[in-house]
Amino acid sequence: MERHFNLYRLIKRLILWLLPFALIGGLTGYFWQALALGQALALLWHYVFFHRLNVWLWQSRTMLPPRAPGAWSDIYDGIYGTLRRTQAKRRQLAILLQRFRHAAEAMPDASMVLQKNGNIEWTNKLAQVYFGLRWPTDKGIRITNLIRLPKFQKYFAAGKFEEAFTLNSPLGDGRELELRFMPYSDHELLVVARDVTQLRKLERMRKDFVANVSHELKTPLTVMSGYLELIEEPATVAPAVMRKAVVDMSKQTRRMQNMVDQLLLLSRMEAQIQDTYTKPVHLGAMLRQILDELRPLVEDKKLYLDAHIDDSVAVLGSEEKLRAACSNLITNAIKYTPVEGQITVRWGKIGPMAEFSVADTGAGIAPEHLPRLTERFYRVDKDRSSDTGGTGLGLSIVKHALEHHRAILQVDSRKGQGSRFWFRIPPELLVESVATKVS
Ligand code: ADP
Repeated sequence: MERHFNLYRLIKRLILWLLPFALIGGLTGYFWQALALGQALALLWHYVFFHRLNVWLWQSRTMLPPRAPGAWSDIYDGIYGTLRRTQAKRRQLAILLQRFRHAAEAMPDASMVLQKNGNIEWTNKLAQVYFGLRWPTDKGIRITNLIRLPKFQKYFAAGKFEEAFTLNSPLGDGRELELRFMPYSDHELLVVARDVTQLRKLERMRKDFVANVSHELKTPLTVMSGYLELIEEPATVAPAVMRKAVVDMSKQTRRMQNMVDQLLLLSRMEAQIQDTYTKPVHLGAMLRQILDELRPLVEDKKLYLDAHIDDSVAVLGSEEKLRAACSNLITNAIKYTPVEGQITVRWGKIGPMAEFSVADTGAGIAPEHLPRLTERFYRVDKDRSSDTGGTGLGLSIVKHALEHHRAILQVDSRKGQGSRFWFRIPPELLVESVATKVS
């Protein structure tokens, strides 16, 4: 029950307390002495409860106030009520703070709260991961003492936070981070850092792609415009030169056509989401057909071709994509193997999977090139592969075609010792083949 301090009641009580002392004092002739005694006793009574209040507030561990009569009960209850309200408010604030922290932890970005001078007040877990902070050890430490990159120090010192700022991760893990500083009170900053590695990589890829296509088209176009200028006056051109011009121009046209076809195939494959395949592709028969088509090239280079093809297994997949993958890999083996080399093509079951491989005794590939082979337009030896008509798109087509069949292109290669390109089709895409064997 809510009670209120009441001056009238207090005075009434004091008078009632002092009245007997005044009466006895009046009757005995010690009026003032008796009144003083009454007041002294009243004061003592108040001191006792004042002391209890002191003990309760500063020493007692309980929230409940001590029992007290009269006015002191009002005071104790009043303080108790205020304490309860403060505690409830504090609890609400703690819940709010916890909610804010949970929300900040759930964010896909790293966030930090800094004081204006850079001292760290709070960070979420991602910020600790991105910046290598130790928590709570680094609490209160100036951010510029922890992120010591000169670029960051300069940006922070300039205090111009309108523009986002990109930073290579201070941990040296190759991550690119985009930081935004947002002052949100007179003396605090909210810092949000986002991992933009993938985004920047895509931007670079897009720029590289445009540069590569332009570069690839430039050479054939230059050759052709040169010849066209030359034959503007056909009468002055010797027949042998004219023949060479026609041969070269048709070679360059084929090259451009080949590149455009490959680019179209690539973009078609990238746009497609992975299908659920139901039609079996008889890879054995398909490989024999590819090898037959490529036989003239093999014979031209006097290559020894060995094929071990198991016809009992078929793949639930796309014929177009599997053909593109296998034929690019075999064509490369032929292209990059010198005269009288050996090429071995295998297709068959390995445990629950099925493996396709093509091994050659060609020039091999140095290890530093291996991770980049499937990038668009990537060629180990640009001069040699433009001689062979290569565009650097073949292996990226293979990679995409295989991704659609949950397979990954693998390479074992040593410079000077040949290469082996292979992939494995997972069991869920394999069926028994009922195709007639092609000898
Ligand atoms: P390209 O059209 O130039 O052949 P690819 O994407 O098919 O492009 O291959 C990329 C590069 O990988 C080639 O330029 C070549 O340097 C290298 N490469 C591919 N296959 C082989 C191989 N069997 N032996 C040696 N190098 C190869």
